[in-house]
Amino acid sequence: MADKQIRVRFAPSPTGGLHLGGVRTALFNYLFARKHGGKFVLRIEDTDQGRYVQGAEEYILNCLSWCGISPDEGPHKQGEFGPYRQSERKTRYLSYAKKLVQLDYAYYAFDTPEELDLMREKFKSLTNPSPQYNAITRTQMKNSLTLTEDEVTKNIDNGVPFVIRIKIPAAQNIVLNDMIRGEVIFNSDEVDDKVLLKADGMPTYHLAVVVDDYEMEISHAFRGEEWLPSAPVHILLWEYLGWKTHMPQWAHFPLILKPDGKGKLSKRDGDRLGFPVYAMDWTDPKSGEITKGFKEMGFLPEAFINLLALLGWNDGSSQEIFEIAELAEKFSIERIHKGGAKFDFEKAKWFNGEWIKRSSSIELLPLVKKVLETNEINSSDEKIVSLIPLVKDRCQLLNDFYTQLAYFFQDPHEIDINAIKAKWDDAKTTFLREWIEELKNTLKWTPLNLEDSFKHAIASKQLKAGELQLPLRIMLVGGKFGPPVFDIASLIGKDSTIRRIEHSLTLLN
Ligand code: GLU
Repeated sequence: MADKQIRVRFAPSPTGGLHLGGVRTALFNYLFARKHGGKFVLRIEDTDQGRYVQGAEEYILNCLSWCGISPDEGPHKQGEFGPYRQSERKTRYLSYAKKLVQLDYAYYAFDTPEELDLMREKFKSLTNPSPQYNAITRTQMKNSLTLTEDEVTKNIDNGVPFVIRIKIPAAQNIVLNDMIRGEVIFNSDEVDDKVLLKADGMPTYHLAVVVDDYEMEISHAFRGEEWLPSAPVHILLWEYLGWKTHMPQWAHFPLILKPDGKGKLSKRDGDRLGFPVYAMDWTDPKSGEITKGFKEMGFLPEAFINLLALLGWNDGSSQEIFEIAELAEKFSIERIHKGGAKFDFEKAKWFNGEWIKRSSSIELLPLVKKVLETNEINSSDEKIVSLIPLVKDRCQLLNDFYTQLAYFFQDPHEIDINAIKAKWDDAKTTFLREWIEELKNTLKWTPLNLEDSFKHAIASKQLKAGELQLPLRIMLVGGKFGPPVFDIASLIGKDSTIRRIEHSLTLLN
């Protein structure tokens, strides 16, 4: 493909937290732009003032920046196609709406909410439970198709509230050529006469999206599958406004499904099943309610991007770990699947674990330090850097570093004493008491020396090392985890080692 003027856009509405599906849409747009040397535009679709939420735009930008997919143009990075907030483009839409009326592709409608309700009641039937404003019903409503020209002018002059609706033709096929789905044919009888301009003079999403994609010279319009039913309206608008040859190429990305595959993954599923659905923590400005995000849950942005890319796309091989530069190189819209992609939190954590393993101790240092500090453990950078390699293979979330490292700094809060008790006897107590005495005199406090001393002492008592090593670990760290036990003893030092063993022995008595 000739890489001429590739321009894609991510067009979120600032209505709340950013769902992982939204981030994936942004990511796929970003990857496509990078691959083709194009531009990735952020457009804030804030025409619906009723749904506008304070702080949501800033939050979206922060999420994109955390993910490393910042826009080339947008409200905070002006380009030549601004402004990039629809509310600041308000005056442009009216003239297009009027042009459509003049061309008889749209009409004024003066119906009150009560009249709309009456129409729905009147046309309701078993086969049509929620009648639409369309080629049939509009003939019985109060609009510029049924009123005389005089009546229309009088209404407008008298300030009677009106909307402008698109006049969807009856019985026509509207064809969408989708880069993922191929040819999708819509029957116009199933599409209603969508409002294009609202009574408050603001455009609806349908008009604004087409006008802006045209004016911003968008070459490819990629968005989630939930927008597929709107495509016929948009295609007709491109045609009616005389811009058909400029229409972007479309692709509708598959839905991200609940873990059981039954329906679209929602924020509520995350709350119910205990995993994040938003990219970052989102605080509702009205209720103050906080919804957890991937970032705060302990995900690395590299892992988040990687797992999102694989929700609905692969490069044709079995490779799963990709960094963003490689994704940009290999990405292609044609390799996106049509079917929905099930979200699996265990798999998401696996991706994060892989990225933790791949990160250097220096890269992880600030993140791990923050996790420790949140848990009131303050330590030197040197010490944290030296400990990270010992435990990073055991961490899937950044917060796991707390569990895996806390016992290097403080005695464990809890000891899984039952796990020791199951196979405990007096001989073992005696052994440990004697070994403690030996430890007190050990000068070279190294893992190797400690292991030697332990094994010698065991052999002289005819006990098995295996039977005591696990209890020793539990005494030192609190549970069955952590790096080699003599490494731990060596790092926590003589006093702590002895104190922890003695403490457990009192619990066993
Ligand atoms: N404003 C729409 C949204 O919130 C954008 C849909 C589109 O990309 O056309 O997702």
